[in-house]
Amino acid sequence: SPTIVWFREDFRLADNQALHEATLLGQPLICLVILDDAANMGAAAQWWLDGAIHALAADLRAKGGDLHVLRGPARRVVESVAQATGAGAVFWNRRYDPNGRETDTALKAALQARGVVARSFSGALLHEPWTVRTQSGAPYKIFTAFWRAACTLPVQAFLRPAPDRLVFAPPIPALEALRVPPEQYRLLPTAPDWAGGLRAAWKPGEAQARARLTDFCRHHQAEYAQTRDFPAMETTSGLSAFLRFGHISPARVWETAQASPNPDKFLTELGWRDFAWSLLFETPDLASRNLRPEFDAMKWRTDPKGLAAWQRGRTGYPLVDAGMRELWHTGVMHNRVRMVVASFLVKHLLIDWREGERWFADTLVDYDPASNPMNWQWSAGTGVDAAPYFRIMNPILQSRKFDPHGIYIRRWVPEVAHLSDKDIHTPWEVGCRGYVAPVVDHAEARARALAAWKAL
Ligand code: FAD
Repeated sequence: SPTIVWFREDFRLADNQALHEATLLGQPLICLVILDDAANMGAAAQWWLDGAIHALAADLRAKGGDLHVLRGPARRVVESVAQATGAGAVFWNRRYDPNGRETDTALKAALQARGVVARSFSGALLHEPWTVRTQSGAPYKIFTAFWRAACTLPVQAFLRPAPDRLVFAPPIPALEALRVPPEQYRLLPTAPDWAGGLRAAWKPGEAQARARLTDFCRHHQAEYAQTRDFPAMETTSGLSAFLRFGHISPARVWETAQASPNPDKFLTELGWRDFAWSLLFETPDLASRNLRPEFDAMKWRTDPKGLAAWQRGRTGYPLVDAGMRELWHTGVMHNRVRMVVASFLVKHLLIDWREGERWFADTLVDYDPASNPMNWQWSAGTGVDAAPYFRIMNPILQSRKFDPHGIYIRRWVPEVAHLSDKDIHTPWEVGCRGYVAPVVDHAEARARALAAWKAL
């Protein structure tokens, strides 16, 4: 009887424990991907998912096999495939979001009740969320303490090259009938096609992830701590979406980085990713609830015009606008600029962080349900590990400090490209025609935010 390997967000053949263990059973394989509407993915991430499916299908074809793409609630689909094919075992790698965990538990019980072997493995994080705990067994709320503890534990390093040979089950009519043909995936935009920038910027896939990691560790990691905050330099790894879709495992990133110069700062950033997932594991409503309940009383402004200006990159603050336009075109934004635009929305415009979280969720290719809300709550000061409320990022000073020559700004905001390195951060001071006036005055916005935070 065949073994089902259910690919979820682990689109890779190497370092994939579920796939590896499945091959050890010596039975022919049936490889599945399920388009589950409950997965609740934004438009840009869906675009990536489409590419991820095609890339994995091509890698499996090169080994003589096939990837079956099915649609429906994951649990029901896996159960019906197991039944239709007479599979003896189903293997997959775990996810840690509320929907993924619920599915895992219910599916395991249902399969086991029918005598089908059901096993899940780790592979999305450096550590299982329940293993990094305080001495009393509680989850950590502060990153530095979390990371100190995590670093004393061995990384779950499942490292194996892609299997040389895979044996696949012959076509099974009952399974063929369940397949979704590529033109019905419904993951890509129809009209208007807004994905041109994504196509130009990215090629999802395992080989691309490996190449990026090698290039980063060889050329940029040594200087990462000094260069990572400068958006014009493009010296960060660019691995976030590849990690999010599991084209590469964090364990592989860990191993490769460790073997290259100055890994600590980079690995700490990878630690933030684990921290975010451990928070989501404990707090399933991380994207909707203020982790600090006193913020429930915050009087956020309703400002559709301000929100639209922010979303479209028309706030009149060049660094903010550059970031929001980069996001719209490429599906990512440099981390320093993400912090600046998030602070701007929440503190300068006094708009609820959840609006920003939703916009990022729809437009980021690396959007994940842990990192995005955690970082938004961190930026808004509503989360754990928050910066003091009076720390309001000044978009002008941030611009001068982290894009001193306006190279990044010129890339995305052509309206101000002709200004000098000095004036480009404050175009309103030189009456720059053709560019929007600031939606708020910095000093007034700062005073308003301080008053609102103090009132809490
Ligand atoms: P590198 O600097 O090369 O870092 C290596 C890896 O570490 C990243 O690929 C990522 O997996 C992880 N990482 C780095 N910083 C963080 C962080 N602050 N939190 C969690 N993981 C981190 N990252 C996402 O992956 N998905 C999101 O949805 C997301 N939303 C964000 C929202 C806001 C408001 C902010 C301020 C940050 C957000 N980040 C998110 C974190 C960070 O901006 C991106 O991970 C990073 O910019 C990706 O670029 P890189 O791969 O070149 O990162």
